[in-house]
Amino acid sequence: MTDNGSLTPTSAADSSETGPPAFASQAMELAALQESAQALTSTLHLPAVLEIIADRACTFIGAEHCTVFELDPVDGCLYRRAVRGRLGNEAEPAISLGHGVAGAAALRRRVVFSPDVELEPPPKYDEPWAGLGMTMAEIVRRRGIRAILGVPLVSRETVLGAVCLYWDQPHGYDEREVRRLTNLAQYAAIAIENARLYADMAEQRREAELLAEITRDLSSSLDLASVLRKIIAHARERCTSDMAFVAPYDRQRRVATIVASVGARTDIYTGVNILPGSGIGGKVLETGQPFVTGDYLNDPRFSHDYDVRAEQEGFVANMAVPILSVGGEILGLLWVVNRSPRPFTARHQAVLTTLASHAAIAVRNARLFEATQRRLDETAALLRIAEILNSKLELEPVLKEIAQRTSQVLGFDRCSVFLWNGGPAQPVMSQFADGRAASGPWQAFREMTRHQVEEIPALGEAIRSAAPVVVPDARISSLIPDWWGETFSLRSVLIVPLIRQSVVIGVLLLDRADPAPLGEPQLALATTIAAQVALAVETARHHAEERSRAVTLAAQVELTQASTSTLELKPRLKAIAQHTARAMGVERCTIDLLRDGRLVPVMSQHADGHHDPALWAKFKRLLGRPMQDNTASVQAMRLKRPVLVEDARRSDLLARDWVEMFGLRAVLIVPLIAKDEVVGIMSFTDSQPRSWTASQVDLAMTLAAQVALSVENARLYEESQRARADLESKNAELDTFVYSVSHDLKAPLVTIQGMAGLLLDECGPGLPEEASRYLGRIQANTQQMESLITDLLALSRIGHEGRAPAAVSLEEIVEDVAADLAPVLRDHGIELVSGELPVLWGIRTQIEQVMRNLIGNAVKYLGDTAAGRVEVAAADRGAFVECQVRDNGIGIDPAYHERIFEVFQRLKEVEAEGTGVGLTIAMKIIQTNGGRIWVESEKGRGATFRFTWPKRTAGGEG
Ligand code: ADP
Repeated sequence: MTDNGSLTPTSAADSSETGPPAFASQAMELAALQESAQALTSTLHLPAVLEIIADRACTFIGAEHCTVFELDPVDGCLYRRAVRGRLGNEAEPAISLGHGVAGAAALRRRVVFSPDVELEPPPKYDEPWAGLGMTMAEIVRRRGIRAILGVPLVSRETVLGAVCLYWDQPHGYDEREVRRLTNLAQYAAIAIENARLYADMAEQRREAELLAEITRDLSSSLDLASVLRKIIAHARERCTSDMAFVAPYDRQRRVATIVASVGARTDIYTGVNILPGSGIGGKVLETGQPFVTGDYLNDPRFSHDYDVRAEQEGFVANMAVPILSVGGEILGLLWVVNRSPRPFTARHQAVLTTLASHAAIAVRNARLFEATQRRLDETAALLRIAEILNSKLELEPVLKEIAQRTSQVLGFDRCSVFLWNGGPAQPVMSQFADGRAASGPWQAFREMTRHQVEEIPALGEAIRSAAPVVVPDARISSLIPDWWGETFSLRSVLIVPLIRQSVVIGVLLLDRADPAPLGEPQLALATTIAAQVALAVETARHHAEERSRAVTLAAQVELTQASTSTLELKPRLKAIAQHTARAMGVERCTIDLLRDGRLVPVMSQHADGHHDPALWAKFKRLLGRPMQDNTASVQAMRLKRPVLVEDARRSDLLARDWVEMFGLRAVLIVPLIAKDEVVGIMSFTDSQPRSWTASQVDLAMTLAAQVALSVENARLYEESQRARADLESKNAELDTFVYSVSHDLKAPLVTIQGMAGLLLDECGPGLPEEASRYLGRIQANTQQMESLITDLLALSRIGHEGRAPAAVSLEEIVEDVAADLAPVLRDHGIELVSGELPVLWGIRTQIEQVMRNLIGNAVKYLGDTAAGRVEVAAADRGAFVECQVRDNGIGIDPAYHERIFEVFQRLKEVEAEGTGVGLTIAMKIIQTNGGRIWVESEKGRGATFRFTWPKRTAGGEG
């Protein structure tokens, strides 16, 4: 055995003693070495490099066999990686450092040579070889090897392996061979190191890629289970293990639960709990340190609680690492298992630890995500609730949606809302989280109105204390009576009071069918929601009030337009019915009026305004139907009260065929009452059952009163219109009659007057005195008759002048009248005075006629008054001018104040010419111009006639 003791590379220049021929061969040698170096650097793939080393070693030196060994730094053994020659057919166990030529070369970092293994055996040649039961000597001998040369592969002070050359015959020491091999080994070591570095780099890159992938997963998927599944898939791949598991740790429950596994024969592992102290997982949970074993079943360092399962699965090598938070808290376990004795190395542990740190991020992210998600859900629910509140919908749908969302977000089965104003709780809304409808509980819910809140202590308590009441299990709590828990089929309950301005206005009741504890965050959220609901209730109340005020106002505007016929009323009622139906949130509104003891449908209107001829045809068919058939309508009319039907199918107040014919479920009937008398009904109908709220009933009643009044007004208006038309036609007839009569009378009258005049003129002196007197009487009477006829004609012509009104000076008129009366005034010493008089708007002849009649009467009826005095005055009365003619004459008994204005009515207190038509004419003129006339007087005290005259008449200026 020769040990040359040197590893210093021998350069070609150093071998000068070999002379010129040697020089040539040396040059060749160099060229060959360069070639080898080139070959070695041609690849970075380690197995290929090792193969090249084997190739070169054989050809370059000329040995028969060659083996290249790689040293595993973990176990310190040499493993055969490449082989040339006959030896490749046999298995080569690992060689320990110091064992044989290769082991000794690697250990000593020197060339080791045995020219004849029989004569100079290599180190530890007779010791058994790696548990094969044979010595190295026996194996070498069997292989027929005689000489062995071993060179270590060393780079930067680190042994990477060894190269061995073998000869079948004893082989003398050849300086040049050794030098060549040593030189080759130098290059080989560098090539191996480079290949290893490259492999490491590739590994690192792979690792980086893997981490990037995991990181991507971490940020893209917040689903913890899927991230963990990826992590164990990587763990299994990187550690080349048969199986991998992951189990997040629940600190509160002190248990890690397997959530995912790969490579196991069955999926019986998912859900398995690992307790601290049990198995190697339990060991890691306890210590917080990684744990590695190469022989699971026989390792005494941990408790064997899971051996049955480990045996079934064939656990051999096992490595577990903790998943640790930044602060060192254990978040879970990650472990890999081999079914064969392939121990896990330090490198595997490093890989697994890195993966565990990623799992830690995943777990933390998932926890954060869960918390964020929960907070988001809560925020979303609150936002939605706020949104609903702001949308100013009706209370019912608002509460419906809030109730459903609340039960969902708080994890309850159902959410109900009761309002309270002393006395029983008023059920408003009850909604299941999944939106289902259940009629039994609904009925029970509706019937809550029969119970005082104190009957359910939990309810009474929440209202009295104005604080939430939690009942985790109704069956063992005295706060919930058994009967109540059963009817509502509830186990756990949370009652939160609805509070507005420190006053409890109701409660929010959340319940579940199973017992459940309630967390502080749930309670806080429920309280927040309750505050929102309370606000919603208040807003909705305001809104409902506002809305009903608006609808009522609109109805009033629509209906109280004066002088409306029923014909004109119908489209208005239609508009109102539609408004109301919409405001009440019902489908249809119908109005029936009572005519001759029967209800006659006059109008039926859909909330959306659409016209339904088929429906109307159905109504018409009902026309002949006796009213008693419809108990609800009869009741509403008889009791003069609204009749509420929540579900027509459950009520006997409505005729069945009627309900079916119109597809009715909910009906609200209010009587139409005008002046205490029922004139019809107004009904609101819906094809869905519903509960009518007090505000709906109020609104319906208010509108019904409006409608009734309008219907009645329309009827009265029509009656008065008819009367007026009657009167007008009669007046017209009378006018024609008067005119024709007076006209026809006038002709014979003129003849009589003429004849009487002729007779007097021609035969006057010859006639007996008696006859002349009679003729005089005839003349006077015909004169009177003519005046009468003239007056009557004037009367009948009023309103038919066909002249346009104009500005007329009252002062001028009075002056004219005074001028005409001047002789009389002078003869009797009568004083006629007038103040400042205005300009009136009218027909001059008419105004003159009025003044002439009034002033004329004043003069005529002065009687014996010594100092007769007539005064004309006028005063501004806003839209009117008030004129007066005052005298200090005989006066008029108040008993006759009205009668004197009638045609032909005279009092005959004094002897005065007249027809009794003068005041009638004055009154008719004044009235047709929109004014009125009256007298203020007492017998013997003079009389004052006053009349008003509008400042402006239609189409003119005042
Ligand atoms: P006549 O042609 O009789 O005056 P009128 O219609 O003008 O008819 O008047 C009706 C009656 O009213 C008169 O007959 C008279 O009795 C009474 N009357 C009218 N004006 C006065 C007056 N200024 N003072 C007293 N009585 C009057």
